[in-house]
Amino acid sequence: MTDDNNKLRDETLCARGSDAHDLGAVAPPIYLSSTFRFESTAQVADYAGGKRERYQYTRYGNPTVEAVEVQLAALEHGTRAFLFASGMAATSTWCHAFLGPGDKLVAARQLYGGTTHFFEHFLRPAGITVDRVDFSDLAILERALPGAKGCWFETPTNPTMRIVDGPAVAALCRRHHVLSAIDNTFATPIIQKPLDWGVDWVMHSATKYLGGHADLTGGVLVTGSDGDAARVGETRRSLGGILDPHAAFLMHRGIKTLALRMERHNNNALALARWLAGQPQVSRVHYPGLADHPGHAIAARQMKGFGGVVAVDIRGGYEAAARFVDHLRVIINAASLGGVESLVSLPVLTSHVHATEAERREVAVTDGTVRISVGIESVDDLKADLAAALAAV
Ligand SMILES: *Cc1c(COP(=O)(O)O)cnc(C)c1O
Repeated sequence: MTDDNNKLRDETLCARGSDAHDLGAVAPPIYLSSTFRFESTAQVADYAGGKRERYQYTRYGNPTVEAVEVQLAALEHGTRAFLFASGMAATSTWCHAFLGPGDKLVAARQLYGGTTHFFEHFLRPAGITVDRVDFSDLAILERALPGAKGCWFETPTNPTMRIVDGPAVAALCRRHHVLSAIDNTFATPIIQKPLDWGVDWVMHSATKYLGGHADLTGGVLVTGSDGDAARVGETRRSLGGILDPHAAFLMHRGIKTLALRMERHNNNALALARWLAGQPQVSRVHYPGLADHPGHAIAARQMKGFGGVVAVDIRGGYEAAARFVDHLRVIINAASLGGVESLVSLPVLTSHVHATEAERREVAVTDGTVRISVGIESVDDLKADLAAALAAV
């Protein structure tokens, strides 16, 4: 795509797809070739000497993968994107690229469980200091930042959709020369563009909304800084976590409808959150689109729509919540989120199974909390399904 594509609106960038391949195909071909032919030894010598940029080997780069990378860079208002085999491959590659023994990473206390596990069980033993702080208190964050190399946070967070002031975090990181990264999985570039806030890197689990159909595993890193991008490209090449071209094709297919899907996720989730708040079996609804959510004011400022995830507390604790989930017929009991189909899960059995009592209390996760990833079905069918399951509680 040309530079002009960066001025196109999200709906257009998604639907039009990528033309960063040279055959004129409207849907990108799946280049399964693991290696690419040179015409002469002189060409190999030019490539080896850095005089010529081209495809050589799919672990280094692949046209199908790159087609999606160009599209995602434009959507996130960055200049360079990298696709990975999973969200965790993206996160771990970023850490390998920028952190080493003796460095400090300031990480939000509320993060995806797999991210926290990686920081605690892989970064710490490698001699990296991981300082986990509450990002809702900017004074605490500012005290932690001096001397840090990197900063990692999420907003909204899983599962109670707590909101962090993204532009404020970005400004603090810039002031203290700390490289910042945000996991933008829950919001997607349709809802918020953290690079515009001044965040240095955006990460996604493309397994969720970007793919959108529960049929691929993938990850993304995007930046606007070319120097940092080269470092990540080099690290991905060494660690080998690049996405497979088949899955890249599926991701491109998924992104075609991303803007449309997010609009429906936002509308369905807001309608269900409002309705759930009026149900007697529900003691609390966590959704940033509701005025009583602790992050509502900041969310209204920095997000375009409030996302597709709603958490509810069912009166009667774990037994009642389990009965509720087991009586759902349309909404599926499965981990993960962000697909066209609605999914439900109990955080005490999934994301927060290893969390301490204090950690759960901090994010208001109780034994009766149920997370709903609201899909794009008829909101009336979803409401009827929820109503019948609530009646069974
Ligand atoms: C799922 C998820 C991840 C991890 O991504 P994988 O694709 O499963 O490796 C990271 N962050 C968030 C917020 C997620 O939901």
